[in-house]
Amino acid sequence: MLSLHKLIVLSILLWLIWIVFRVFERRKAQATVRAQQNQHSDQAHKNAGSSGSDSDMDMVECTQCKAFVPESGCDRENCPVRG
Ligand SMILES: [Zn+2]
Repeated sequence: MLSLHKLIVLSILLWLIWIVFRVFERRKAQATVRAQQNQHSDQAHKNAGSSGSDSDMDMVECTQCKAFVPESGCDRENCPVRG
């Protein structure tokens, strides 16, 4: 009967450990999701903030000088498109 009692205690202990493990795993997953969401919102914020500035401007290939220039227009000195 003592061994049965030990088995019950052991199973309860294992069950408790499993519950704690699951809680930790869920918290870790939530933290990861939250970190990823923060990263995404940061990137969206950065993109929104820098739109219009020259750092993240869309580059297009100039039809005349084949150089990659801002979408607003080619500004190379020796380009026929310029001016
Ligand atoms: Zn050009």
